[in-house]
Amino acid sequence: MNPNNYPAEPFRIKSVEPVRMISRDEREKVISEAGYNTFLIPSDDVYIDLLTDSGTNAMSDRQWAGMMMGDEAYAGSRNFLHLEETVRELFGFRYLVPTHQGRGAENLLSQIAIRPGQYVPGNMYFTTTRYHQERNGGIFADVICDEAHDATLSIPFKGNVDLKKLQRLIEEKGAENIAYVCLAVTVNLAGGQPVSMRNIREVRELTARYGIKVFFDATRCVENAYFIREQEEGYEDKPMADIVREMFSYGDGCTMSGKKDCLVNIGGFLCLNDEELFSQAKELVVVYEGMPSYGGMAGRDMEAMAIGLRESMQFEYIEHRVKQVRYLGDRLLEAGIPVVEPIGGHAVFLDARRFCPHLTQEQFPAQSLAANLYLESGVRSMERGIVSAGRNRITGEHHRPKLETVRLTIPRRVYTYRHMDLVADAVISLYGRREQIKGLRFVYEPRQLRFFTARFEEIE
Ligand SMILES: *Cc1c(COP(=O)(O)O)cnc(C)c1O
Repeated sequence: MNPNNYPAEPFRIKSVEPVRMISRDEREKVISEAGYNTFLIPSDDVYIDLLTDSGTNAMSDRQWAGMMMGDEAYAGSRNFLHLEETVRELFGFRYLVPTHQGRGAENLLSQIAIRPGQYVPGNMYFTTTRYHQERNGGIFADVICDEAHDATLSIPFKGNVDLKKLQRLIEEKGAENIAYVCLAVTVNLAGGQPVSMRNIREVRELTARYGIKVFFDATRCVENAYFIREQEEGYEDKPMADIVREMFSYGDGCTMSGKKDCLVNIGGFLCLNDEELFSQAKELVVVYEGMPSYGGMAGRDMEAMAIGLRESMQFEYIEHRVKQVRYLGDRLLEAGIPVVEPIGGHAVFLDARRFCPHLTQEQFPAQSLAANLYLESGVRSMERGIVSAGRNRITGEHHRPKLETVRLTIPRRVYTYRHMDLVADAVISLYGRREQIKGLRFVYEPRQLRFFTARFEEIE
């Protein structure tokens, strides 16, 4: 591995938070008490926490300074105006509705833009996104390219929409039965895979012919823009902000989880261009979130988000971010560990089907792999497979995703390369005794978004 491929941290550390590794005996007790669900492990018992990159970001000194400038007025906070101005400039959408986090925005959009029975095509599902679509009578239709479902295929832009699939769906169902296209950049569950600018443009051209709107899931849009700059012709010298703005010029709005690419710990928003939809969203936001000038966020949180969003577009930041993730992936690939390829923007995904070929999908191999990695090393990860996919609302059958993965998600600006080495060594060591990983069965299965709170036991 060439160290020049992995830039050093473009920051120095001003405040530290100690971490602690508990003993193996203690970890055994912890994981069993957590019902083999890494979501249920107390954070103090975790050594390196790669559960998620959501809300786990380290803020900059400037963002902390911004926190002190919170205007906590109930209405008309100046921090809202700053956020609105920043998002307008960087994303180019006309209207902004703040929400407490991404799913708050998904809730609003699904209510105002879906009529019961309408289809919502998307480039692979996301848990909360699909939940809100279905709750409002929408029918999710996966139109991602087939390659995205193949963990072993290392090609760029595996998040792309298959335009033929999308066109077929529109023609079969009729344009009036398509609510909108939900375009995720990057695609979390495909392995953090990006969508090319060309594909985004083509989705816009196709849907425009039928008068269908496009709403982005903008959660990791800066990471997506980095891949475009790195791998798509014509973008090698473009500023990140220009690429992001061009991406969004092909859409009618977006939902955003500020907990990812906005470099904050909480927050989100909905963007819209259509005045009538904006007016409906404002009516609903007061029911679920708060006044349209804070939407569930404190003034200080909106300030930190405005500053964080601008920082996220700095090239040195995003280059280090994506390449640190790639470093972990490259170390695992070098050791022959099965991971989803190519390495995406926010996480390395272990391919649990190839890691645990002795287990069937109904024995929840990824869930068990995540539990065993914690046991091995105190590293916390997350299942992204059959447990996360949940059940079909009508038939009650498991959704059976082709990708059965464990996500090692890297928080932004939090860990160093040495931490990545520790994680890689732990995974490699676990791979050496992989036959000992047992299957699991449900002890408790929640009806909604089951992966968050489900409990399991080992099958002997
Ligand atoms: C996290 C996430 C969401 C939901 O956002 P929250 O802030 O967690 O509510 C939506 N879409 C994607 C792709 C995400 O990763």
